[in-house]
Amino acid sequence: MTASPPPVIEIRDLHKTYGALEVLKGVDMVARKGEVVSLIGSSGSGKSTLLRCANLLEDSHQGDIRFEGEPVKWSGTGMNRRPGDHKQLIRIRTNLSMVFQQFNLWAHMTILENVMEAPVTVLKRDKAQVEALGRELLAKVGIGDKCDVYPAQLSGGQQQRAAIARALAMEPKALLFDEPTSALDPELEQEVVKVIKQLAQEGRTMLLVTHDMRLAADVSDHVVFLHKGKIEEEGPPETLFRSPKTDRLMQFLSHSI
Ligand code: ADP
Ligand code: MG
Repeated sequence: MTASPPPVIEIRDLHKTYGALEVLKGVDMVARKGEVVSLIGSSGSGKSTLLRCANLLEDSHQGDIRFEGEPVKWSGTGMNRRPGDHKQLIRIRTNLSMVFQQFNLWAHMTILENVMEAPVTVLKRDKAQVEALGRELLAKVGIGDKCDVYPAQLSGGQQQRAAIARALAMEPKALLFDEPTSALDPELEQEVVKVIKQLAQEGRTMLLVTHDMRLAADVSDHVVFLHKGKIEEEGPPETLFRSPKTDRLMQFLSHSI
């Protein structure tokens, strides 16, 4: 038997509240090196919140988050809890690159400038090296000829692929995708699906929030079904999609496939 790969992201008993609304009610989740973990669930179930808590874009109020085995250092408790070590916060956040539903490219920068911005300004990497990497990554996602154009000149599918190249340019330990294909027309969706599948095959560690059950079934090692801030059911995709145990998951899948 081979040992399991080490965890990149570990979340234990995570709680998150917005005002009076408890959005995450004790969630446990692990993404090990090279694994793809997908999060599925109805709108409002807490999927985006969980991703945002995982890379510390959002504060959580109880429970633990570990990055490569290292516990996040908190200061304060409950509603006043915040990451307490700024250097650690930046290190974790830059190692968990996020790809958003709406691409979030900078409109006033060319595609190559978008890809180069964070490695140069945040990581202080050498500009010429980052440019070479940026060109390589844009070619990898199939838009090597779009380096010098602005986001508005690209289709949604091309913009999302540029956003994926931008995330990869940080050379992160894991990629976090929040509904990366939801804003795209079906024919453009497939261009992005192809890139995500390629990244999964390369053994990238990924947390993937998606409404695309076929994509989740194809790329995931583990699928987590969230319902109202709790994990209702989880397992390998072949079990979860073929033989769901709970009525809630059955109902969800009957509306989703
Ligand atoms: P999902 O991504 O699964 O659709 P979200 O994580 O976006 O769900 O939202 C979970 C719940 O938290 C929803 O009820 C949503 O309205 C609420 N919520 C999300 N963000 C905020 C916020 N910034 N302020 C208040 N409530 C929020
Ligand atoms: Mg969401």
